[in-house]
Order: sequence, then structure tokens, then C-alpha cells
Amino acid sequence: MRVFLDLMWFFKQEKKSYLTGIAVLLVVAVLQLIPPRVIGIVVDSIKEGELTSGILLKWVVILAAAGISMYGLRYIWRIMIFGSAVKLSKLLRNNLYHHFTKMTPSFYQKRRVGDLMAHATNDLQAIQMTAGQGVLTFVDSLATGGFVIIAMAATISWKLTLIALIPMPFMALLTNYYGTLLHKRFHKAQEAFSDLNDKTQESVSGIKVIKTFGQEKEDIESFREQSEDVVQKNISVAKVDSLFDPTISIIVGISFFLSVAFGSRFVISGELTIGELVSFTTYLGLLIWPMLAFGWLFNIVERGRASYDRVANLLAEKVEIDDTPDALNIKPTGDIQFNIDQFTYPDEDEPVLRNIHFTLKRGETLGVVGKTGSGKTTLLKVLLREFEGYEGEVLFGGRPIKNYKLEKLRESLGYVPQDHFLFSAAISENIAFTNPMADKGTIEKAASLAHIHQDIEQFTEGYQTVVGERGVSLSGGQKQRISIARALMMEPEVLILDDSLSAVDAKTEESILKALKENREDKTTIITAHRLSAIQHASLILVLDNGEITEKGTHEELMRNEGWYREMYMRQQLEELVEHGG
Ligand code: ADP
Repeated sequence: MRVFLDLMWFFKQEKKSYLTGIAVLLVVAVLQLIPPRVIGIVVDSIKEGELTSGILLKWVVILAAAGISMYGLRYIWRIMIFGSAVKLSKLLRNNLYHHFTKMTPSFYQKRRVGDLMAHATNDLQAIQMTAGQGVLTFVDSLATGGFVIIAMAATISWKLTLIALIPMPFMALLTNYYGTLLHKRFHKAQEAFSDLNDKTQESVSGIKVIKTFGQEKEDIESFREQSEDVVQKNISVAKVDSLFDPTISIIVGISFFLSVAFGSRFVISGELTIGELVSFTTYLGLLIWPMLAFGWLFNIVERGRASYDRVANLLAEKVEIDDTPDALNIKPTGDIQFNIDQFTYPDEDEPVLRNIHFTLKRGETLGVVGKTGSGKTTLLKVLLREFEGYEGEVLFGGRPIKNYKLEKLRESLGYVPQDHFLFSAAISENIAFTNPMADKGTIEKAASLAHIHQDIEQFTEGYQTVVGERGVSLSGGQKQRISIARALMMEPEVLILDDSLSAVDAKTEESILKALKENREDKTTIITAHRLSAIQHASLILVLDNGEITEKGTHEELMRNEGWYREMYMRQQLEELVEHGG
């Protein structure tokens, strides 16, 4: 029941709704006692031959009034209690989402997307269940159960009450036992189903590969096995489910049997009237639900507790990189200066960057080259403040980048990542992502600069063409150029191209770079590339090897070195020549 204490902050916040709901629930619990009593009185009047139509009418009116009031009141508490529970899940969902957006890439690296989705859906549902159904069951089973037992014992017979109640604890215990079993098996069945879903999706997406390698038979076999697994697990759910109702019926039956058997003897011995026995058995009928509910309650609360812990842990996860209290609310501009002695990724031992010292003047272009894994992307991520914890400083406009609000820093940096991501939306929406209100002219200008305008025009629906699974499939180069157009929409102070031209041909690359140079005067550009022609006109070129700067200078300076740069450049020139049959 500790989860109710954990949720106290919310109950307090929604005090009015909960208190009204609970008060109404208590009134209903009392009103429920009226009909069985009335039925007993009427039966006794019939037996005594005292019933007149006037008296009957009076009782019927009372019954109707109780029935109608309960109808209305039940509506009210449902709205109050279940309505508040929905508010709780909305609140937690929004908090989670807000939290997710603040987390750094290392958070997402450690977790599977599927798990995060499960927290945001299943766990919130279980918590909502606790705050709604759980509170209801708790109050209702205690109040209704308590009132009914008191009414039976005080107004009819405490002896008979004790006898009739003997089987009830078993009912609560069994409900709890079956409930837990059912939940466990249901969970397994769901997992199996979700695995089957993954499998299906993967097989359909990868059907070309499967066919190319002639693996259809194997794939069908593994699908059959998984499908069989789903069936078995669902059957095991059905088995528990099938035991549940008959078991409850037997226990309830025993309770009724005991009441009628002993009750009849009390009637014969004159301890009870026949009408009282009728009332008693009707009361007993009212007890079934609270006893069942009590068993379920443990289940609901147990699940709620586990889910709440998971969500609370997620929310408690520290935002690793956040604004300092006095962070500057301005977009940084100016020179960029790296003074990093060492940087190591979280949970790693070996530093990935060492002795990175250089200055990039505003408006200049920086080229960063080196083997795969030499640290090029890492250098950019440090500038983007996706990772921290380095020894040294990164200055932007003369101030450490941590001194700016994160949002402002990122507004200055137009980053085009290697693994470009396009949303399943129109091309225009993808380009105008950072500025949805942008007009057509601005979008087209960005697209032209990125040399993708003409391609887009050729699609039948032009800029309204939808990309992604439900739309047109674009080539790697087209996706890269759309990503560049998206970054250009921000008119960023610094444009960062992280190997973003790898899938376009050398000629297009040259045209894009030329257009950028002409249109982004006084604005800084950082380019990492494998093809050295992409950076040969840069104001400064860094060659990284194993996280260290091994060469530094302009193209001409580096060509005079007998180093990696010169060798690589010559080789690539040669390859180019061979490719063009020269
Ligand atoms: P490049 O862009 O030059 O190919 P990266 O900067 O991506 O190189 O990677 C440099 C080194 O850092 C590699 O050894 C890579 O395995 C490691 N690395 C990259 N990202 C992470 C990360 N998030 N956590 C731990 N190590 C990483």
C-alpha cells in the first residue's frame, strides 16, 4: 500500500475531487443497505398477511428513490476519481516527455527505445489504474464490506454473519493468487506477442536480404516457432482464467449454503424471521464484490508500485547537461577556440581527444579530416555540448560554451549529422523543421543552396511530397542535401557538416560548397570529410589521428608536409583520375 503514500502529493493536489468522490462513495455504500432490508420487511409483511397496497407503494417508492440516488451518485464518483486518475497519467506523461527531451545522447545510448516507450505507456497505465481503480477498490471494499457486515451482524444475526463469512477470506486469498498468476502469464504472453511483432517487422523489412541469401525456409521455420510460442503462452493464460470463475462460484456457493442451512434452523427455532433470512442472503450477495475487489486490490497496487518506481527512477535520472543558473540568454557569435587537454567518454577508460588546441576566427572555414574513429565527430559533439567532462575549455565568442543557455548555443550551431534523419512528413516540413512558419521563398532558397531544389521540383507533388515509409524513397545523397537545407533554414552562425556530403558526387559537392561560401559571408563553417576535396579550400585544416592533431594548417601548408594529408590527397586525386578514365 506504500504506493498510496508515494502518490500523496497528487492526492493532495486533487484533494477536492478525491474527497468528494470518497464521500459520495460512502453515501452509496450506505444507500446500498436499503434494498435488502426493504425486501426482508416486505417478505415478513406478506407472511404475516399485513401487506396492503398502500404499504407496498411506500416501500416501492423508497426502493426507487434509493436506486435513482445510487445511479446519480455512482456517476459522480466515477467522474471524480477516475477523472483525477487520468489527470495523473497526463501529468506524469508530460513530465516524462519533458525529461526525455532534456536527456543527452548518452542516456539514449544506455537504453532501448522500446523500454522507454513501455514506461511511457504501460507503466503510466498501471499508475493510473492505482490512482483510480485502486483508490476506488480500497475505499469501496472497506466501506461497502464493512457497512454490509455491520448491517448483517447488528440488525439480523451476528452468529449467522460469522458462519457465512468463514469462506470469504479464502476468496480474497484466491483472487490475489490467481490475479498474480494471471498477470505473470499475461505479461509473458504479451512479451511473446511483441517478439513476434518485431520478428514480423524485421522479416518484412529485410525480405530482400532473406531472399538474396535463400533463407526463406529458415525464416518460415523460426516464424512458426515464435508463433507457436505465442499460442502456448496464451493457452496458459486461458487456463488460469478458466479456473478463476468456477473457484469463486464454489466459494460463494458454500457461503450461501452455510447461510441458508444455518439460517433456516434459526428461523425454525424462532431466532430469525423468514424476512430477515431473505435480507441476510441479499446482503451476502452484496459482499461478493468487495471481497473479490480486495483480492484484486493487491494486484493493482503491486503493479502500480513497480511501475511508479520505474517512472520515478527515470524522472530522478539527472539531466547531465543543463543550464547553469546564470547562463547567458544570448546566441553566441564570434571566434571559436578549443583548448582541450583531454576528453574521455562517460564509462570509458581511454581518452578519445587529446591536446586539441586551435582557434577558428569568425567567418572562417574549418576542415577536420582523419581516419574513421580518429575523433572527428567527437570534436563536434563537444562543441554542441552533447558531452562534457573534458579537461580544458571550449570558448565561443570569448566565453566558455557552458556560460550560454543550451538552447541559445544550439541555435547558433546548425548541425548536419552523419546519420541524417527525416520525418515522415512533407519535404517542405522537413526543411522548415526549425522554423515551421517560414514562407515558400525561404524554404526554396535553402533548398537551392543545398542543391536539392531541382530534384524536389521533379517529384510530382514537389515540396509537398511525403518522405519516409509512406512516401517517396529518396537516395542517400538527396537525404543528405535535405538535411543540409534544414540546417541552413536556421541561418546558423556556425554550419557544421559532419561528413554530410559523402553520398553526393564530387561535382555537386563542389557546387554546394561554393554556394555556401558565397551566401554565408561572415559565418563560420566546420566540415568533416573523407574526401579531402571537400575541405581543401578551408582556412584551417586539422588532421586527427587517434584523438590527436597530427597536422594543422592550410591545404598548401599541409601539402608541403610529407604526412598523411599529402599522401591521402594524392591518392584520392589519382582515384578520381582513374574513375574518369584519365
Ligand atoms: P570519427 O568521427 O573520426 O570517425 P568518432 O569521434 O566517431 O570518430 O569516434 C572516436 C572514438 O570514440 C572511436 O573509437 C569511437 O569508438 C569512440 N566513441 C564514439 N562515440 C562514443 C560514445 N558515445 N561512447 C563511447 N565511445 C565513443
